[in-house]
Amino acid sequence: MKLVYRAIVLLCIILFFWYLLQRTPRKITAPREEIWIVMGTVASLRTPASEREHFPVMLQIAKDTFDAVNRKLSVYDPDSELSVLHREGALSPISPLTKSFLTTTIEMTEKANDFFDPSLLPVIQLWGFSGGVTPTNLPTADQIADALDSPRIADLSIDQTGARYAGKPAHIDPGGIAKGFALDLAFEKIEQQFPDAHFLLNLGGEMRAKGKAEADRPWQIGIQHPFEKQAAIGIIRVPSRFAVATSGHYERYTEIEGERYAHIIDPQTGWPVSGMAGVTVLSPNSTEADVLSTALFVAGEQQANPLRKRFPESEAILIPDREPIEIYMTPGMQAWFEPYPAFRDNIQPWEKLGTQTE
Ligand code: AMP
Ligand code: MG
Repeated sequence: MKLVYRAIVLLCIILFFWYLLQRTPRKITAPREEIWIVMGTVASLRTPASEREHFPVMLQIAKDTFDAVNRKLSVYDPDSELSVLHREGALSPISPLTKSFLTTTIEMTEKANDFFDPSLLPVIQLWGFSGGVTPTNLPTADQIADALDSPRIADLSIDQTGARYAGKPAHIDPGGIAKGFALDLAFEKIEQQFPDAHFLLNLGGEMRAKGKAEADRPWQIGIQHPFEKQAAIGIIRVPSRFAVATSGHYERYTEIEGERYAHIIDPQTGWPVSGMAGVTVLSPNSTEADVLSTALFVAGEQQANPLRKRFPESEAILIPDREPIEIYMTPGMQAWFEPYPAFRDNIQPWEKLGTQTE
């Protein structure tokens, strides 16, 4: 009898605590993240738990913005505004999105000097990228010269009514800038609606951060080791509103006649860039980070310094394609980049890079 009595008391105690547990509002502390596929790559939105109420709206803004950029600018979609401009040499009317993209692209191309040129689509396709077919043999000097001798985006005139070329149209590869442009567009829209929000937006490995990951921790991004697939060389603590982009030879390449060729082309020679393994850039916005990482990859060790001077608000890490790994970084990057202990001795001062002037 005593035993039954004890069991009943114990059951009552358990039920009482279970009841209390149900009543106490549980704190949801896990961060929110959603990953999706768009523009042929992976996108994600991450927020701390504190944003859980706003998360669905923020996510919808990001998805709608990336979809809109893809619809207007995809070179794989014959109905996109960019495809119409390529085909007809004119676009009228023009959407505000495409107008802003073309204006920004012309400005950034000029700023990046001779290292970034989105008019290279014919050359890039010759090497098998951006919709081209991988050739079985190396392109000939004549083929490269022909492809290089194509109209440039600088010849495009844009006004209220539309965009048009006086002569033959340039064929633009948005691949080196569209991700950054799309990130900035989505970032600004989310920020406009939620000025105090904390979030990290990623498109194809390029990121833009707002606020912090947690109350006392900034957003952090791991920097990939260019020679070891699963390894990282350190982390960047991203200041609020800043962006990070990386251009690496390991990201995309092709193999022709047994040799590997990177997907980034030197606009001067029409050949894929060699000698560089990876460039990571920290900038006040994603468009600049995207363009500058590609342009510094082309500029290489000899010309990185004068090019970077044209973007004084950006910091950079540059890794040449040789081992043991050498990690060159701008002095200002030290405040944000923390190499893992195993790589501390591999850090090199930016000043050691080639000292050619513009
Ligand atoms: P990213 O991965 O941002 O460095 O961009 C590389 C992509 O930009 C390539 O896959 C091409 O679509 C395009 N691209 C390649 N070389 C250049 C260049 N020199 N200037 C502008 N875009 C380029
Ligand atoms: Mg880029």
